[in-house]
Amino acid sequence: MTFYGNNRTVSMLNRFIDRQELPQSVLITGPSGVGKTTLALHLSMYLLCKDRTDGAACGRCISCLRIQSNEHPEVAIIEPDGELTKIWQLWTRSGHAPGALDSLSYRPVLGNWRVVIITAAHTFNDESANSILKVLEEPPPYVQFFLCTTSQSAVLPTIASRCFSVPVPPLPTQLIATMLQTDHNVEPSLAEELAKSSAGCPGRAIRAKDDTEVSIIRDRAAAWVSDFLQGSRNQIYTYAESLRGIVPKSSPDASSRQSVTKGIQAVADAFGKQLSSTTNSVDALMDCVALSMQAAHAVQRNGNQQIVTEALVAKLSKRCHRR
Ligand SMILES: [Zn+2]
Repeated sequence: MTFYGNNRTVSMLNRFIDRQELPQSVLITGPSGVGKTTLALHLSMYLLCKDRTDGAACGRCISCLRIQSNEHPEVAIIEPDGELTKIWQLWTRSGHAPGALDSLSYRPVLGNWRVVIITAAHTFNDESANSILKVLEEPPPYVQFFLCTTSQSAVLPTIASRCFSVPVPPLPTQLIATMLQTDHNVEPSLAEELAKSSAGCPGRAIRAKDDTEVSIIRDRAAAWVSDFLQGSRNQIYTYAESLRGIVPKSSPDASSRQSVTKGIQAVADAFGKQLSSTTNSVDALMDCVALSMQAAHAVQRNGNQQIVTEALVAKLSKRCHRR
């Protein structure tokens, strides 16, 4: 996990960690998408790394790997539930999953710290804000809090006054363009364009990149359906290959053409429904495209479009439910 920009801030905080002087309640402030949660994760990695050297976490130890995959059991990340960060997310309340802060009374087992990252401290309602004042004021000696918020004035003064404030200003445009090219494989001209409109916030640039990719995939899918219905098979195969290389070049014989067409239509309908639902991740879309392509291929080979398309619809709806 590379954290871009604000080098002086990061090295200052790392030095605090080296000297075991990092205040236990840190308030990270900055505009939306600037990288506050990423900074909190970056610092958590450094804090918990089993093998840190030269002011950097190793990125390879079990602790670093678990944090990078959001699976560290002693690093709690609390995101708002809708518009608000609610009391039951913090402390266990009947009818809800266990609250993330109840475990703070137990010493950590895997490392020396339990870390709590609150991604939007300005979304606390009064009840949740008041409920954490005491633990922010006097955390157990093994607890580290990172509270992220858009500005210091956006949180209650009673919270801000208990925290050490770390401002994260926007990044230079060129740095964001470099990040998009290096970490996200964005081609240079698009990277420049996205960076310019990100207002110095890498998170916004990444979201805009995802939106752009989703709209490209949507356009291609629409073109795919339309091409197929007009009987332009070669274009479909080219498109399919460019996505996953799933459909081979061999064309079905004329007699199976009708059933294939019906099958693909059903596939396209299911795919269209999937696209128009809440999906917004490129991977999810690619996954559905791949399923549709596999189904199209299967229809093409055995002609039993009903079984194949029913299976496809079942798979797609299963994926819809999972999200
Ligand atoms: Zn490590």
